[in-house]
Amino acid sequence: MLTIPAAIAEEMIAHACELKPHECCGILGGTRESVSQHYRITNILANLSESDLARFDAPKLSDLKQLSPEERADIAFQMDSQEMGNALRDIRDRGVSLQAFYHSHTMSPARPSQTDITIAMEFEGYREKLNLPEPLHIIISLLNIESPDIRAFRIRNHEATEVPTTLV
Ligand SMILES: [Zn+2]
Repeated sequence: MLTIPAAIAEEMIAHACELKPHECCGILGGTRESVSQHYRITNILANLSESDLARFDAPKLSDLKQLSPEERADIAFQMDSQEMGNALRDIRDRGVSLQAFYHSHTMSPARPSQTDITIAMEFEGYREKLNLPEPLHIIISLLNIESPDIRAFRIRNHEATEVPTTLV
């Protein structure tokens, strides 16, 4: 169970709406699956090189190569590493811990894509070296713009399992 203050959920939805049709992304900190800090992070996917694109799964990669950088950011995300480092440092300085990464899906349901799972597993590959706890992965779907959907997932062994969330 992940607990998110309603004010932070509203900020995340506002972030997603502002960036639409691009995906937004960010980090949540807190303690024991209770969120207290929210950090917006820049989605740098629009500026990715061909070698960076190599990490994407094949069907999506061939799509991505044909898209303009702006269009790429509409369907995927990658966090700016410096901003991510700053957020993780701030989380540590405040004596709390990493709880979740989030990003938006502007045109699809709140469910991790194959690319999302690949990125999450890649992060797992070096997470212990960074001495970070395992984060949940939150997706904000704007598919129904009248009623944005926020769902959290635990991603292990290339499988995503939904973790219930409560707004407080
Ligand atoms: Zn996604």
